[in-house]
Amino acid sequence: MQLPPAIAARIAQCVLGAEGPRLGIDEEARTHGAIALIGAIGMIWGLRPDGSFWMFDRDFEVALEPLPADCQTQALAWGARRFPWLSELLPVRASDAADCAACRGSGMLSVTWMCPRCEGLGWHSER
Ligand SMILES: [Zn+2]
Repeated sequence: MQLPPAIAARIAQCVLGAEGPRLGIDEEARTHGAIALIGAIGMIWGLRPDGSFWMFDRDFEVALEPLPADCQTQALAWGARRFPWLSELLPVRASDAADCAACRGSGMLSVTWMCPRCEGLGWHSER
């Protein structure tokens, strides 16, 4: 996806280690030139300053591969929970959008389970 220059620059700063969290998933993401949007067992999703999404997990021998396009909204929703400044990349809620009934607008079904119906946004358009 096309990133605004300010966002791309901030991701680059995180990759350099100048800011952002420093968990194991962050360190591994850095080795791929990316920030870690979400880390779970056997899966880390990352975003590079060039706007490309990736998945990898060294501990589970998951090689670096592009993240499927249909996972990108969910990846960003996760990422905005770790890096609130990524939230401006999320789709803008339309005026006719309704709160997601499955997650009651929270975007999550539990602490670790993102709502698949709204992809973590907490709403969807009734179209
Ligand atoms: Zn939902």
